[in-house]
Amino acid sequence: MEEEIRRCDLLSIPYLVHHPGAFTTSSREAGLDRIAAAYKELFKRTKTLSVVSCLENTVGSGSNLGRDFTELAALRDLITKATGRPERFGVCFDTCHAHAGGYDLSSLDKSRAVMAQLDAELGLSWVKVVHVNDSKAAAGSRRDLHEHIGEGTIGLPGFEGVVGHPALRGVPKILETPKGEGTDGTPLDTANLRRLYSFLGSTPINQPVTGTKSPSRRATTKARTPAPTRARGRATR
Ligand SMILES: [Zn+2]
Repeated sequence: MEEEIRRCDLLSIPYLVHHPGAFTTSSREAGLDRIAAAYKELFKRTKTLSVVSCLENTVGSGSNLGRDFTELAALRDLITKATGRPERFGVCFDTCHAHAGGYDLSSLDKSRAVMAQLDAELGLSWVKVVHVNDSKAAAGSRRDLHEHIGEGTIGLPGFEGVVGHPALRGVPKILETPKGEGTDGTPLDTANLRRLYSFLGSTPINQPVTGTKSPSRRATTKARTPAPTRARGRATR
């Protein structure tokens, strides 16, 4: 972990994302304390660096920590108290993990409610990275199976509440959806990005492909963009 932080610094990567881990045979409290103790040691060993370590929310399977928003807030409090470096702590919000972990994102109203809850229980200013993934598994299933945007149990409308949230506008967003190319040769990432750009209005921050027009909000609420061909393999991180 120390090595990863050093590599991020060398490469000018501002955020390092990782899962909190599992408490296995100990207790939830002991697990949280161990993470805070590890951060204390890590930040001590890398005290001249400014890389922000971001804990990612999880589906909460088994004894894995970090599903509950209040638990992420508790980790933030423990870590900032142990290290005195709140500016080096952040959270990565993964839409698939939240949904499968029980925070239902399957409509615009539901996803707005989840984001309001995240804001109330943690604070959206702590969210430094967003992993944008649909979910193959049902809301609350505690199963971590990523799917193309709009083709899973979240569905396209639910992403508007997250990607279109004003507080997350400048936050980096990463697709962890299956990779490959559609039958027409279009990269699946491009197809997935086009769907998400529809929530950014008419001026996407970056065009995915030169000369490609971003779909307008009106066009995409009436007719969904064509489904990309499914890729082989799967992303489950
Ligand atoms: Zn993720």
